[in-house]
Amino acid sequence: MVEIEYLRLTENILVATSEIGFTAGVIALENFAVGIDSTLFPYTGGLLRKRSNLILKKPMRMIFLTHYHGDHFWGIAAFNDIIILGSEPLPRNIIDEREIQPTRFEEWKKEDPEKAQLIEEIDTSFLPHITFKNEIKIQEGEFIIDLYHSGGHTSCSSYAYFPNEKILFAGDLIFAKEWPWAGDPTSNPNKWINALSNMLKLNIDKVIPGHGPITNKEEINIHLNFLQELKEETISTLNKEKGVECIKIPSFYNDQTPGEWVKKATINCFYNFYKTEVTD
Ligand SMILES: [Zn+2]
Repeated sequence: MVEIEYLRLTENILVATSEIGFTAGVIALENFAVGIDSTLFPYTGGLLRKRSNLILKKPMRMIFLTHYHGDHFWGIAAFNDIIILGSEPLPRNIIDEREIQPTRFEEWKKEDPEKAQLIEEIDTSFLPHITFKNEIKIQEGEFIIDLYHSGGHTSCSSYAYFPNEKILFAGDLIFAKEWPWAGDPTSNPNKWINALSNMLKLNIDKVIPGHGPITNKEEINIHLNFLQELKEETISTLNKEKGVECIKIPSFYNDQTPGEWVKKATINCFYNFYKTEVTD
């Protein structure tokens, strides 16, 4: 029904991606495993859990959510018996989004009737059991997972770093080979830029992005330069008292984009964000 590709990236890391547009993963520690994002549907979340048990052979005891967007969170019902972790603003964002969900899910079922059953199973009544403000460490024996809350793509955006194997799960702070989408009402360009600068300080071998292929530190640099340039260009446009349409978009991946609406949302976000800053 839904194809999932699994990749055992390292001894202790399993990555799951699907053509329906999600990336999730699992990190195995000494005696248990920690899931990173719960996938789009409870059904796919369940499949990931089964595969993880089979391959990594450690029971999953915790799941860390990088942020509240559906493609990272709506599968949470498949993990409702384990500890859910996320940043401090995550519960608020989950609760706020519940209001628009019934209409959104009804429309989705009409557009994609084959997935109606999967959509029906989505249950967003689960909230994190543990939240953290800036960072938190999961440690078991020699193994450590560092979780950092940065904001940026959303106010609750966070990332996970596994120093034992130098792996970074970046969530949607990295859209590898794609335009970064800043259309969320809680997006914050300054925090996004800071998040990427801080990631660069880590000793990283591979980066698992929220979207796109598995990549490396170079991709963080590319995203950082792009967002910096877009920020400077936006501020200079605002200083000239010109409108959003006058922003010269920095070149990025030779303009390969998933869609005009993505570009537009990101540029509008930057414009409105720095407009408040410039005029304040
Ligand atoms: Zn997202």
